[in-house]
Amino acid sequence: MKLGNPKNTIEVIQKYDFDFQKKFGQNFLIDERVLEKIISAAEVNKEDFVLEIGPGIGTMTQYLAENAREVMAVEIDKNLIPILSDTLSAYDNVSILNADILKVDIAKIVEEKNGGKPVKVVANLPYYITTPIIMGLFESHVPIDSITVMVQKEVADRMQSGPGTKDYGALSLAVQYYAEPYVVANVPPNCFMPRPKVGSAVIRLTKYKDAPIKVTNEKLLFQLIRASFNQRRKTLQNGIKNFGGLNFSKEQVAQALEEMGLPASVRGEALTLEQFATLANILDR
Ligand code: SAM
Repeated sequence: MKLGNPKNTIEVIQKYDFDFQKKFGQNFLIDERVLEKIISAAEVNKEDFVLEIGPGIGTMTQYLAENAREVMAVEIDKNLIPILSDTLSAYDNVSILNADILKVDIAKIVEEKNGGKPVKVVANLPYYITTPIIMGLFESHVPIDSITVMVQKEVADRMQSGPGTKDYGALSLAVQYYAEPYVVANVPPNCFMPRPKVGSAVIRLTKYKDAPIKVTNEKLLFQLIRASFNQRRKTLQNGIKNFGGLNFSKEQVAQALEEMGLPASVRGEALTLEQFATLANILDR
C-alpha cells in the first residue's frame, strides 16, 4: 500500500493500533508533494546507498526504495518494526535497523554497504535531536555526499544565516564549515500526522569535498565559536577569556584582533566563518 496520504496512514495506524510517541518526535508525513520534493532535492538515483534516520511507518522509505539502489533505515521505536516489515514488504533493497541513531557506528555501515564511498542521508528528523545527529554526522568524518532533512523551520534558518542576523550562531558556523546549505521548501504543520506545533523546512546540506576554510586546529576553531556565542552580549575578548578549556589572555586576543584589523570591542556575532578561521590560525601559532 502506497503511503504518503492521510487515508492510508490512518489505515496503517489503526490496523496496528499504533500509539504515537511524543518522546520520539513522531510526526509522520502525509503529503505526496512534500515527499517528492525531498527525493528530488536529495537527487537520489539508482547508484545511491541512502541512510534514512527514523523511517516511522515507512512513508519516505517507500519513495527512497523506488529511487535508490539500496536503503538502510534506522528506527528507534521497536513498535514500528513489524509495521515497517509490512509496509516495505514489496521492496528487496531496504534493510531496517532497530537502534538509536546516536549509538550506531555509521562509518562501519558505510564501509560495509557502500565500500566506504560517500552516502546520501535523507530524513524527516526527530526534532529533539536534530543538532546532535547532524553535527555527529559531520564531526565523525563519515563519507557523506549530502544530508537532505526535514527540520524545525527555525533551525533551518539558523543553519543558513550569516553575520548580522538574529539567527546567526554556533550552529550556522558549524554547518557552513562542513557544507553548503540550501533551503528546499517550507512545510506547514498540516503536512504531518499528528501536526507539530512548529513550522518545518526541508534543508539540503551538500558536504564540501575539500573544505574551503582551512585551519591548523579544527578543535580550537570550534572552541572559539562556542566561546563567542556562549554569552552573546560579551565582547569576543571577554567571551574567550572566560571560556573553559581555552587558555588565552585578553591581551593575546586583543593582539590577534588588531592583526586582523578588527576593533577590540568586536562581538563574535559580527565575525564571518573566514574571520573565525583566521583568528584560530593566529592563536594557534
Ligand atoms: N520518516 C517518517 C515520516 O516522514 O513520516 C517519520 C518521521 S518522524 C518525524 C521521526 C522518526 O524518528 C520517528 O519514527 C521516531 O520514532 C524516529 N526516531 C526518534 N528518535 C530516534 C533515534 N534516536 N534514532 C532513530 N530513530 C529515531
